[in-house]
Amino acid sequence: MQDYIFEAEDTNNAFITINRNSVFGEGKLSGIPVAVKDNISTKGIQTTCGSKILKGYIPPYDAHVVTLLKNEGAAIVGKTNMDEFGMGTTTESSAYGVTTNPCDKTRVPGGSSGGSAAAVASGMVPMALGSDTGGSIRCPAAFCGITGLKPTYGRVSRYGLIAYSNSLEQIGPMAKNVTDVSTLMEIISQPDVFDTTAYNRPYSHTPSADIKDKKIGIPKEFFGEGVDEKVSKCVMDAITKLENLGVTTIECSIPSMRYALAAYYVTCTSEASSNLSRFDGVRFGPKVEAKRSWHDEYRDYRGHNFGEEVIRRILLGTFALSAGYYGKYYAKAQVAKNNIKKDFLRILKDVDLIAGPTMPNIAYKIGEKSDPLEMYLSDILTVPANLAGVPAISVPCGKVEKMPVGLQIIGRHFDEESVIDAAFAYEQEVA
Ligand code: GLN
Repeated sequence: MQDYIFEAEDTNNAFITINRNSVFGEGKLSGIPVAVKDNISTKGIQTTCGSKILKGYIPPYDAHVVTLLKNEGAAIVGKTNMDEFGMGTTTESSAYGVTTNPCDKTRVPGGSSGGSAAAVASGMVPMALGSDTGGSIRCPAAFCGITGLKPTYGRVSRYGLIAYSNSLEQIGPMAKNVTDVSTLMEIISQPDVFDTTAYNRPYSHTPSADIKDKKIGIPKEFFGEGVDEKVSKCVMDAITKLENLGVTTIECSIPSMRYALAAYYVTCTSEASSNLSRFDGVRFGPKVEAKRSWHDEYRDYRGHNFGEEVIRRILLGTFALSAGYYGKYYAKAQVAKNNIKKDFLRILKDVDLIAGPTMPNIAYKIGEKSDPLEMYLSDILTVPANLAGVPAISVPCGKVEKMPVGLQIIGRHFDEESVIDAAFAYEQEVA
């Protein structure tokens, strides 16, 4: 049975809640314990989004992906730690304590799905679900040395995913190897009528290492300023291995990438300010002394039970959407987002895939990134795929200073198949 996970000590603080009542059913995942990020609704199991404001919230329904996992016999063994509402790159903004990186406990596991990555990397579970708004599956996969896929926007139902920035995010699979990622993707991409942005184009594919006719674009911006040289070299070596497998690589450029971070942070904070307005703190979360007007009460609950980063983003987003500024910020960000998508579509006409590093650095030391702007900069290589809506995977490709490095492979809309095959071919080559 899945008892081993309950006996294993959670030495990395990967879980917020362990579900001791989980049971296996019949199906492709019978006997497999699966961990689920704590922003994905699970019927009867506390779901906090890493926030104090949802402490004690027990959803009355399962997210579509959770229903699908249960239908295949998986046991949902627990809910994993995360940056509060997904806002972060290190899991340090969780209200439930930082998760440590199983490869080096003085370092962060990446974020925001840091708990899912640590649970897989430490061997507590073979697979987990994460969510990726601007890199939150790929970053922790890279930092912890596992594989994680952000699907095409609309390929996996978001029904039951507690929204942070709904126009950018996707739920996706995380596992030790590409085959398990592929299996999990087949299961969670099944159609859903409750998410109107879901395309109902389920993924069904067996990974193949035959990639010799593929063309891969290497954007020069992915190896530019701010990217650690040792990380660049490690990823370049991995790309050489892909060339040895018969792929053709072509240098390319994504000029609009210089607007990617600005477009991303205006979009995600704006959407967050709207999405998070539903949390009034009345029914869940610690109570604060508040016996005055409703307005004061909400203000006190929200002020006390949201963390600093969440408050910062709500303020930024509310400002960006305010009368007179909407056109200047949000509308402009959507233009930039569209230009990024156009650049990707243009490049992906000539090549099948795009490759580069997942993150510009190896996992940071805990506390190292204290300046929020500096933290935002580290998302430069992951946010473009979310803005363009294309699928992207991170697969381990060696180490720098004994810490894992991730190779990021990006594909055309709804071509997870080629992304998976390239990652699989690389994985088999280095195995
Ligand atoms: N680090 C990015 C952010 O803070 C991405 C997070 C995510 O994908 N949820 O918004």
